[in-house]
Amino acid sequence: MYHPIELTKKTEDIVLNGDLKKYYRFRATRFYGGIATADTVGCNLRCKFCWSGNSVWNAKNTGQFYTPEHVANNLKKIAIKKGFHQMRVSGGEPTIGRKHLLSLLTKIESRFLFILETNGILLGEDKSYVKELAKFNNLHVRVCFKGNNPEEFSILTGAKKGFEYQIKAIENLKDEKISFNIALVSFKKDSQDFINQFVNINLEQTMIEVEEIILYPKVRKRLEKEGIISYFE
Ligand code: SF4
Repeated sequence: MYHPIELTKKTEDIVLNGDLKKYYRFRATRFYGGIATADTVGCNLRCKFCWSGNSVWNAKNTGQFYTPEHVANNLKKIAIKKGFHQMRVSGGEPTIGRKHLLSLLTKIESRFLFILETNGILLGEDKSYVKELAKFNNLHVRVCFKGNNPEEFSILTGAKKGFEYQIKAIENLKDEKISFNIALVSFKKDSQDFINQFVNINLEQTMIEVEEIILYPKVRKRLEKEGIISYFE
């Protein structure tokens, strides 16, 4: 088992070079009704259902380094060409490389909405990161929970801990009045306890979407190896 914060530091050594960060693809995707997407490299979790492949599992040999300017320009070109109003970073964990992400956000024009899809670990670990994100008005954060309690989090990610950081991320986003929603990957049929945690902190209006896991051949193989495929079929 690993600790997500220690894995963050190891990943930073691989995917960051000063202000530059590794990316492996820029593309237009149909999610959110159409969004310009930059796929980054590196993550601080190892979710057993992850579709990202080499960008997570082999970061060393994947992608190239890009400046925040270059990433912002590529996203803008795609958005203008396709008539999109939204942008995001996907593929790996966008919050790894705080300086890079904050610099990238300053370069996203206010007419575009930037959707920050994150596992929330670093936003829960350090509130000052969330305070810095609060400066951007064209930002929406989507925090994807890996499991609906600490035990399921560990089964799904193989990490020692992390669920607590995800909950803390939500509290921090709420405190800083940042627009956000919650996504959940869970094999549990009943998520009422999970939902109640947010009702308890007056977040009953928060949108919680259940994320479907696509069983790509590699994902299926990994889940079979881990003995948890039956939960996802
Ligand atoms: S947090 Fe996302 S990118 Fe990282 S391992 Fe989990 S599913 Fe993959």
